[in-house]
Amino acid sequence: MKYIVVTSAYAPTSTAVPERPRPACAGQDPDIFFPEGDLGPTLPQLTKAKQICARCPLIHSCLQGALERGEEHGVWGGLSTAERHELTARRAPGPLSVAA
Ligand code: SF4
Repeated sequence: MKYIVVTSAYAPTSTAVPERPRPACAGQDPDIFFPEGDLGPTLPQLTKAKQICARCPLIHSCLQGALERGEEHGVWGGLSTAERHELTARRAPGPLSVAA
């Protein structure tokens, strides 16, 4: 619920807390995001994780965080471990940056 507070010193101010984006993986089975490898029988699991990430509003910051932390396992920001390794191997030297 929003309340509008009017003061004499300032313009009307909303007291509503800004809504924070909710990650698409919230409430999902975490195991989906940690397949055993990138090929074979784990491919459907990997695909499902990537589909969830594809509709996540935090996909860029999630990927950047995973790259900065050097996450070795799991799907982060829509990329598997192998894909993140490939991305970091190809990137230019310097600070990490994921385009939004
Ligand atoms: S991008 Fe990150 S935060 Fe978003 S659904 Fe995928 S793992 Fe979760």
